Amino acid sequence: MIPAAKPEIGEDERAAVDRVILSGMLAQGPEVAAFEQEFSKFVAGRHSIAVNSGTSALHMFMIAVGIGPGDEVIVPSFSFAATANAVGLVGATPVFVDIELDHFCLDPAAVEAAITPRTKAIMPVHLYGHPANMRELSAIAKKHNLLLLEDAAQAHLASFDGIPVGAWGEAAAFSFYPTKNMTSGEGGMVTTPSASVDRMVRVLRNQGMERRYENEVIGFNTRMTDIHAAIGRVQLTKIEAWTAKRQQNAAFFDANIKGVVTPPVAEGAVHVYHQYTIRVVDQDRDAFAKALADKGVGSGVYYPTPIHRLPSFQLDVDLPVTETAAAQALSLPVYPSLSQGELETIVEAVNAVAKAGA
Ligand SMILES: *Cc1c(COP(=O)(O)O)cnc(C)c1O
Repeated sequence: MIPAAKPEIGEDERAAVDRVILSGMLAQGPEVAAFEQEFSKFVAGRHSIAVNSGTSALHMFMIAVGIGPGDEVIVPSFSFAATANAVGLVGATPVFVDIELDHFCLDPAAVEAAITPRTKAIMPVHLYGHPANMRELSAIAKKHNLLLLEDAAQAHLASFDGIPVGAWGEAAAFSFYPTKNMTSGEGGMVTTPSASVDRMVRVLRNQGMERRYENEVIGFNTRMTDIHAAIGRVQLTKIEAWTAKRQQNAAFFDANIKGVVTPPVAEGAVHVYHQYTIRVVDQDRDAFAKALADKGVGSGVYYPTPIHRLPSFQLDVDLPVTETAAAQALSLPVYPSLSQGELETIVEAVNAVAKAGA
């Protein structure tokens, strides 16, 4: 069976972890500081602050940029729940807006239509590694004097108009969960151009203190450990080559897959293929996935239920494109270690299932 996802991790990461363990210093320290500096190179030199998960990165920056009760934050419903949870956790209201079917990211026209006097921020998700339309979203944010935030959990090294994701808005969050394009075991990163947001996230992750026992605000323990940072640093040296391999795999699929809708890339966008997500239009998507599994090809459904309909939100909003995407999207294996033989097996399986069902 070809699994849907497979983390790349091995001897280099093990050696780095050994080094930290043998140093006897395990908690946040020099490895975290070095990881932050090295990560900044991938976000146009912005400040980077490491935390213990992508969810914490979102939560900490929400507080640091000043979002709270009474504020509305425009987000997609077609995402992982953490996107909206971060808004809810600070007492603000997520306003769910529809997406563009081609790229599965926020529809700028729908965003502009959803702005109210309470809107404080727009937070696109660069879903599956395809950047949202940051050209238009940043223009809308400027025009209406709103904060632009980014959920870049799935999009390390993606860019739009030559500007990397994580370098567009007031703050962005990356995830290093094992299935993401790079991992630290668990972990996350906040990036920001703002010295005050940088400082506040550092204070919040450490119990609200910069100087020991002089707690300034009510804070958290969302620190990253040096063990996790050491893994992340090794992965960071490999992420460019892995991304190129994901893009090559995607190009092979684009050229050879027939009978389903392959994912187009927007003009100006660099897609990093966290997922290679097709749309199954003429058949039942779940039956399609099962038929692929019978041929030894794993796949993933991200996400079967839009966030606004989850038991945790239960909001009655009409998002027809989101519903279509949730019914049709199917993610194929695209990770860097796929062999040419496996790529061919995936293409043959998809084409056979598409043809049989047509
Ligand atoms: C993975 C993910 C998160 C959360 O990251 P964790 O590191 O798992 O906490 C947030 N948003 C999106 C879109 C994600 O895919």
